[in-house]
Amino acid sequence: MKLTELNIFEKRIFSSKEVESFLKTKNYADALVVLLRNQKLDWKFLSKGYAALEKVRTKTFQFDGYTINAQLNSQRIKSTTANVKKEDVEKRECFLCLDNLPKEQLGLEYKNEFLLLCNPYPVFYEHFTIVFKKHFPQRIDDSFHRFLKLAKRVSRYYSILYNGAQCGASAPDHLHFQAVAKKDLIIIKESESLINKYGEKLVDSRRKDVYGISDGLRKFILIKSKDINFIKNLFNNIYTAFKNAVKKENEPLINIIGNYNEKFGWEIYIFLRRKHRPDCYFEKGDKTLTISPAAIDLSGTLILPRKEDFNKIDKEKIKNIFEDVIIGKELFDYLKSHLKKILE
Ligand SMILES: [Zn+2]
Repeated sequence: MKLTELNIFEKRIFSSKEVESFLKTKNYADALVVLLRNQKLDWKFLSKGYAALEKVRTKTFQFDGYTINAQLNSQRIKSTTANVKKEDVEKRECFLCLDNLPKEQLGLEYKNEFLLLCNPYPVFYEHFTIVFKKHFPQRIDDSFHRFLKLAKRVSRYYSILYNGAQCGASAPDHLHFQAVAKKDLIIIKESESLINKYGEKLVDSRRKDVYGISDGLRKFILIKSKDINFIKNLFNNIYTAFKNAVKKENEPLINIIGNYNEKFGWEIYIFLRRKHRPDCYFEKGDKTLTISPAAIDLSGTLILPRKEDFNKIDKEKIKNIFEDVIIGKELFDYLKSHLKKILE
């Protein structure tokens, strides 16, 4: 697809029909590439955000069989410290509603349901926000099928992320996902070794792989299958069992990474949380660490907006952060045995 083909400068929102007429296949990944290229040229704030990314510093920590990076990224401070208290969220204007988007921001429509937008505070060199067109609360139960389909439709280069309203979403009142390049998600690259070293197989079937993975930091369920209905049903089961176990009225704390691959189909990582922010977030003085783990952090890139935190982060502190926010062993064991029974 040539840049000029998408006459992107004349209007703000491109309908899915218009987008699809430019695509050779129905993969929206190509349209996202064009969108970002154009927005970097014409939207100063965004190009500044990407320029800042050049200065980002990274520390790498090698754990037994996997890697965790720490990224110093000062422009993420707003998101890391986002006030997500219901009463305060209700008072502010929603920054994901179409009427409130910056005037330079362009959007690609997907199925008259979502707008694909560039994220002006990128963590990686390609970072998108996928926003539901209606102002509707951030919750996954009735949109999980949309999440799966989107993951497939951008799968040429990207994966999709979901952060629950109470564990990482900076707009808990407006349904949205993110898309980032697959190659930037360490967990996807390390998936095989994580399965081999830490995976407990929860179902014995050749075409449907479900694992409980506990790698010393993270606890998550990994589903690999081409069968969308199987994944949907299983997700509903996990969601309900988790919700009941933690006796939550609203959505239990969940982050999801959705990857799609022509060879094996979907690869869905479901992280189960007990808390939004770790204890160190609330500490005073030298003990403070300003970090709010969400899907990107769980994928292996911890975002630290403050230099002093970046300087002092080490393996011990990383362990404590994950221990604070991820569910305990007992609950994870219970959920795994519950799934095993269902999958028998
Ligand atoms: Zn909104």
